[in-house]
Amino acid sequence: MNVPSFTSRFIESLPGDQLVANEPRQVRGALWSKAMPTPVSSPTLLAHSREVAEQLGLTEAQLKDPAFLSILAGNAPAPGVTPFAANYGGHQFGNWAGQLGDGRAIGLGELNGLELQLKGAGPTPYSRRGDGRAVLRSSIREFLCSEAMHHLGVPTTRALSLVLTGDRVMRDMFYDGHPAFEPGAIVCRVAPSFLRFGNFELPTSREDVALLRQLGAFTLQHYFPTFGPPSKEAFSQLLTEVAVRTARLMAHWQAVGFVHGVMNTDNMSILGLTIDYGPYGWVDNFDPSWTPNTTDAEQRRYRYGNQPAIGLWNIERLGIALLPLLEDDEALVEQALLAYQKTFELEGARRYTAKLGVTPRDETVELTYALFSFLSQQETDMTIFFRALGEVVTGAKPLAFPEVLLPAFYSPPTEATLRTGTDWLQLWWQRTREEDAAPSVIAQRMNAVNPKYVLRNYLAQEVIDSAQAGDASGVTQLLEVLRHPFDEQPGQERFAQKRPDWARSKPGCSALSCSS
Ligand code: AMP
Ligand code: MG
Repeated sequence: MNVPSFTSRFIESLPGDQLVANEPRQVRGALWSKAMPTPVSSPTLLAHSREVAEQLGLTEAQLKDPAFLSILAGNAPAPGVTPFAANYGGHQFGNWAGQLGDGRAIGLGELNGLELQLKGAGPTPYSRRGDGRAVLRSSIREFLCSEAMHHLGVPTTRALSLVLTGDRVMRDMFYDGHPAFEPGAIVCRVAPSFLRFGNFELPTSREDVALLRQLGAFTLQHYFPTFGPPSKEAFSQLLTEVAVRTARLMAHWQAVGFVHGVMNTDNMSILGLTIDYGPYGWVDNFDPSWTPNTTDAEQRRYRYGNQPAIGLWNIERLGIALLPLLEDDEALVEQALLAYQKTFELEGARRYTAKLGVTPRDETVELTYALFSFLSQQETDMTIFFRALGEVVTGAKPLAFPEVLLPAFYSPPTEATLRTGTDWLQLWWQRTREEDAAPSVIAQRMNAVNPKYVLRNYLAQEVIDSAQAGDASGVTQLLEVLRHPFDEQPGQERFAQKRPDWARSKPGCSALSCSS
């Protein structure tokens, strides 16, 4: 077969590390290092995304060709480009962590203007004490969630393929001194760029303004060309644009109930994409204090309700990193922070009122907050509740609590819950009657923003359990359902149920560690 030739604007135009060795080290004066994938013993393609293949200009036959599978497994180099690992730093859990870099991600270069990156293909100069590998459970989670998010309309990196390596990887899943072998896997991620806030923070932390400027110029030229050539003004526009995109992304995460889990600045995309799927989770019962990440269980820095505030904090870190390019004009950072706040306020209100089928106005803010308070009163499934509102809106004004909403409760609702709920529903229902559209039209609009199918944590875990037992067909089956999250999909209702009791505290279903 003819494997298409790869290119790389990143390594062709930006300074790289001269040393070719995978030993962990501090890399200065360079934005990337050469990093050869380490071959694996017997790769199998478990799943792939046909839309991503299409975007890359790959046919189904090409993708499944053993020659291409070798590339996706790290057993053969992609033609045309030297594989590389990017050099970046980051703030982790609120503290500056210094150099991090792609410790287990290896860039293959671009096809059709999109970067391909193998996650789990072996060590790089940035692996520190890690092995550069990824386990099957985490790879399935990254593969499925990247695609699920895309089909929900949320900006995200994509996933082309999920490859089982045939090798085993040692992990201490709970960091409790019980390491065990797990099957290894590699996901090939795809995005226009994998640049993170941390790529900009690292050169600034080392006072390497020349390197920072090169990266800034590259970013403007290739990803934000409308801002013009490098200048104080252009970099200011860049910062504000990233702030706006990040604020929009946060509003979107909140609206679908996605909790990233590790919003460190090395996991924040300069393009405003969701990036680095680790111990993420989906809100089952609406609980603003919930985080899936056990590593963050005490501080809960990255809890559901705190994501918008963290997005802002992260933008401030990016702003500080860009200061040398802004001629140290702190007012420009302030301007970007204000743009973030304003965007989040508008976008948050827009997305939440759309979920309720009403036009944002002053009083809808109160309506939304009253709903948040009601949803937190007793464990109530966020996805089921909002989806069922689409049925309530077409009916008569609810005089009692509607039956279609009952499946949203995790335990029988109390009288008080039903009373508060009915009061809120009446207010909301009344408000929908002031809209310029017929109830059936409102219902359609609501169903187009309130997904029926999301990647519930326990659904991912069921697929993982089967795959670890040797049957990975569930990955593709679940992906098919998640490709149409807003459609009713008769016959697939079992993927739209609330978290079963067995999954309440099962590892992988409610609590995840960073060990992946
Ligand atoms: P994360 O929390 O997954 O965003 O990772 C934080 C840093 O640790 C990044 O620099 C990763 O590349 C690195 N890292 C995570 N897991 C591994 C691993 N198994 N081997 C090497 N580096 C890793
Ligand atoms: Mg990361």
